[in-house]
Amino acid sequence: MVKIVTIVGARPQFIKASAVSRAISGYNKNQTRNIIKEIIVHTGQHFDQNMSDTFFKELEIPKPDYNLGVSNLSHGAMTGLMLEKIERILKVERPDWVLVYGDTNSTLAGALAASKMNIPIAHVEAGLRSFNKNMPEEINRVVTDHVSTLLLCPTQISVDNLSKEGITHGIYLVGDVMFDSTLYYKEKALKRFKLEKWALKDKQYVLCTIHRAENTDEYSRLESIFSALQSIRSNIDVVLPLHPRTKKIIEIHNKDHWLNGLLTISPLSYLEMMRLEISARVIITDSGGVQKEAFFHQVPCITLREETEWLETVYSGWNKLSEINVDSIINAYNSSQDLVEVVKSNPYGNGNSSLNIINILSGI
Ligand code: UDP
Repeated sequence: MVKIVTIVGARPQFIKASAVSRAISGYNKNQTRNIIKEIIVHTGQHFDQNMSDTFFKELEIPKPDYNLGVSNLSHGAMTGLMLEKIERILKVERPDWVLVYGDTNSTLAGALAASKMNIPIAHVEAGLRSFNKNMPEEINRVVTDHVSTLLLCPTQISVDNLSKEGITHGIYLVGDVMFDSTLYYKEKALKRFKLEKWALKDKQYVLCTIHRAENTDEYSRLESIFSALQSIRSNIDVVLPLHPRTKKIIEIHNKDHWLNGLLTISPLSYLEMMRLEISARVIITDSGGVQKEAFFHQVPCITLREETEWLETVYSGWNKLSEINVDSIINAYNSSQDLVEVVKSNPYGNGNSSLNIINILSGI
C-alpha cells in the first residue's frame, strides 16, 4: 500500500485534487495489493459554502479526513498555525508521500511540515513562475519546489524554470490536471446548466473574475478595473461571480456603485463556472486557473496582470496581458476578438495528467 496525505485548502486546489482523487479511485479498482490510500487534509483556508463544500459535493471529492479550520489570519499566522497542525497529523499518519497543489499558504505549510519530518513531498503544478517576488504565491511556489522530491510539472516551460534554478532530480512533465478536469466535465456542464439560468445568450456577455491580492489590495488598481468594466458594460453584459475577498474590499471602501449595472453573482460552482466560460464572448480575469480554462475553451481572454505563469496561453494568441489602467483594459477588450486562431497542439497535455501522477506516486 502507498499512503498519501493530500493537503488542500483553497478553491483551485479542490478542483485540481478532485482529478487526482478520481484517478486514485480508478487505479485502486484494478489493484489487489499496491493500492493507494489517500488521507485528505482540508486546512480551512477557504471555508464558505460556495468556496468549499460545493466543490467537494459537485466534484465528488472524498470528505476530508481532517479539517484544520485555519482561515482569516495574516499570511504568517495562517501558515504557522497550519504548519503546526499538519505536523501533528503527519506524526500520526506517517504517509509515504505528502501531496501538495499549486501555490497557496496551504501548499507551503504542507511542504514545510513534511520536509522537516523528512517525508517526501510531491508538488503538483511545480515550476510555475511569475518572476514577481511581490506575489505571496511566488514565494510559496519557489520554496515548495525547493523542498519537494517530486516536481510534477504541467508544461515544458515549468520544467525549464526548474532546471534554471538548479533543480535536476525528480522533475516530471505530467501535463495539467485542470485540463483533465475540463475534458471530464465539459459535456456534463453543458448538459446540466443552461444559459437561461442567468438570462444570458451565447457569446453575448463578458465573464469576469477578480480576486488576486495585487489587484484587490491596491485601491487605484481596483478602481481602474471597475471603471473599465463600467465602460465595457455599456456595450455588453458583464457577469461577475464576486470573490469574497473582492466583495469585502469593495464594502470596506464603501464603493458599492462600482458594481452598478454589472451582473454580480455569488461565486459559482465549478460546473456553473465552466458553463459560463464556454459561452463567454471574452473572459477578463486575474485568476491563474480561469485564464487557462479560457484557453481550453478557446475563448479570448484578457488577464488583468503584468505577468503570467501560463505563458503558453499568451504565445498562442488567446490571452492578452493588460496593464492595470482604464485605457489599457479597454484597448485590450476592443482588440480581444482579433486574437482568435485555432490551436492545434495543446501545451497542457492530453488529459492524462492525473494518471501520470499516480503512476509516479505508486512507483509504476
Ligand atoms: N471558479 C469557480 N467558480 C467561480 C470562479 C472560479 O469554480 O465563481 C473556478 C475556475 O473555473 C477555476 C478555479 O476556480 O477552475 C480558479 O480558482 P481561483 O480563480 O480562485 O484561483 P487561481 O486559479 O487564481 O489560483
